[in-house]
Amino acid sequence: MPAVADTFFTKILAQKGQPLLIAGPCSAETEEQVMATAHGLKALDKIDLFRAGIWKPRTRPGSFEGMGAVALPWLQRVKAETGLPTAIEVATPRHVEEALRHGIDVLWIGARTTVNPFAVQELADALAGTGVPVMVKNPVNPDVALWAGALERMERAGINDLAAIHRGFSTFAPSRYRNAPTWILPIELKTRLPHIPLICDPSHIGGRRDLLLPISQKALDLDYDGLIIETHPDPDHALSDAEQQVTPARLGEILNELKYRYRSS
Ligand code: PEP
Ligand code: MN
Repeated sequence: MPAVADTFFTKILAQKGQPLLIAGPCSAETEEQVMATAHGLKALDKIDLFRAGIWKPRTRPGSFEGMGAVALPWLQRVKAETGLPTAIEVATPRHVEEALRHGIDVLWIGARTTVNPFAVQELADALAGTGVPVMVKNPVNPDVALWAGALERMERAGINDLAAIHRGFSTFAPSRYRNAPTWILPIELKTRLPHIPLICDPSHIGGRRDLLLPISQKALDLDYDGLIIETHPDPDHALSDAEQQVTPARLGEILNELKYRYRSS
């Protein structure tokens, strides 16, 4: 188990004494959209990591499936112009290889990949020895053992620079949420793996802009280590997850409205 302050995530947490803030578009759509988002976020002077989807796992064929590798240089430009480290989702060893070749700083495993132990193991093998920090989203189904198992596969491959992302769970029952938060499951994960920082994704839990604030506040009240929030310069016209994205300026207001707990570490 790494000592506290040893990892990308714990170092930022220790320096700030505040939750880690990750933001950026659901999908990288154009270079202009990516750069506008990044400069808007940089201006907030609060964001620690820029996120963008390059390869998008869509539920049904025919939806926008991401720009793919052509968008990777846009993220290099984000880092060069704003200094923000960058993060993307990877689902295959080829994604890992292309991301690292383009200097992406942090990789995350999406909810639809965490459900598949074979895919997770292939990613753990591809990530082993690279030193890149990895975030693991909860699986789409409410199975905390599967989520913990994916993180344990990373640890067994020698990857200790880890964070867990709570993005909610699919449910057939009518709900105000896009993905039910089922807060007891991330709390259970935290008791199993207390050394791994826990980040809340209110964008994918809520699926709606007006739920970002209450879900984020609940996560902060539960002492989460960070938030990941989707942002877009023109949310209504986003090619994916339009209903849940907010402008960088609106994100700034939300972050100002949140009440932060005192953090001793
Ligand atoms: C995303 O972060 O844009 C995404 C596809 O999320 P999830 O894997 O949580 O559905
Ligand atoms: Mn999304």
